[in-house]
Amino acid sequence: MLISEKFMELFQVPDFVKPYLHHFVTEQEMELIVKLKGRSLTADDIAGLMNASVYKVRDLLEKAYQREVLNREIKDGLVYYKAADFYARLDNYCKWGNYYVLPKSVRKKLDQWCYDEFLKRNNNFQKVIENDPEYDNCFNEWVLLLSEVEEMIDVAREIRVVPCDCKMLADNCDRPREVCLFFDNKITDRTGGRTLTKDEAKQLVRYTDQKGLMHTGGPYNWREVGPNVVCNCCADCCYPFRAALHLGTKGKWPKSRYIANYNPDNCRLCGRCVQRCHFGAFYYDGTVVDQKGRSRRRVAFNPDLCWGCGLCANSCPAGAIVMEKL
Ligand code: SF4
Ligand code: SF4
Repeated sequence: MLISEKFMELFQVPDFVKPYLHHFVTEQEMELIVKLKGRSLTADDIAGLMNASVYKVRDLLEKAYQREVLNREIKDGLVYYKAADFYARLDNYCKWGNYYVLPKSVRKKLDQWCYDEFLKRNNNFQKVIENDPEYDNCFNEWVLLLSEVEEMIDVAREIRVVPCDCKMLADNCDRPREVCLFFDNKITDRTGGRTLTKDEAKQLVRYTDQKGLMHTGGPYNWREVGPNVVCNCCADCCYPFRAALHLGTKGKWPKSRYIANYNPDNCRLCGRCVQRCHFGAFYYDGTVVDQKGRSRRRVAFNPDLCWGCGLCANSCPAGAIVMEKL
């Protein structure tokens, strides 16, 4: 069997990626994964396997670790390296690699493959479906108001922004992409991205809000333990929302905690809320009304479709929408 074939099997690479393998890994990385054979080994052990000096192997291992070809663990004070898998490498490459060199048709297949893996690997949705009380303890668990994200930024010690992997993979919209915030202990030696000041982070989340992105994050007890992640999401690209819509777990994960309250008496029928709502909760009801001598399409609201993101209330020029706690 060729090294590339053995590598694809061990690294769990889908078959359709075969002609594009060189985008994701080097020849040396493939050899490394094949020689590891699923084992967790030290740099000294791996130098023996690769017939190379420890000095050279350490460089290879560190680069492969940063590229999420390898994972690293410490046991009894020693550093061990183990193969990651294609799912992890794809996540890394779509953010930091030359991902858009790949043809769009291949990127579409990768998005579908990754989305299917996401569903298989995350039991959050299953917990929601089964009403498991532990389901609150998932990443991206809450739909957050912009004001809550600003509070999280206020208490964070360190803030990093990275490209959104969902948007890089899905490429289903033209909204901003460098929008995922990592905080404090969630920042690791391979988070990457740009460090932001609190002011820069607030400017960024306000900008994402203006551009129609909803805010999610957590953990649910961030006021006690500090924030870990805030994502700025849409329903076209972002896997948690796509999955919730597809599996019918609306409002449960990511969890809704607010609902819009619409006062039609104050409404100027400008239609901004209709444009901004990702779920069609605000819509034109098909009738035309006269407002101060001008014909306007009448706006209606279906609270059953509301996820409580606050995008409508943030942009309503008439104060006709307020967010209420569920
Ligand atoms: S954004 Fe406000 S004023 Fe405009 S249509 Fe919606 S509720 Fe009415
Ligand atoms: S109606 Fe609900 S889901 Fe739609 S924009 Fe407003 S708060 Fe978000």
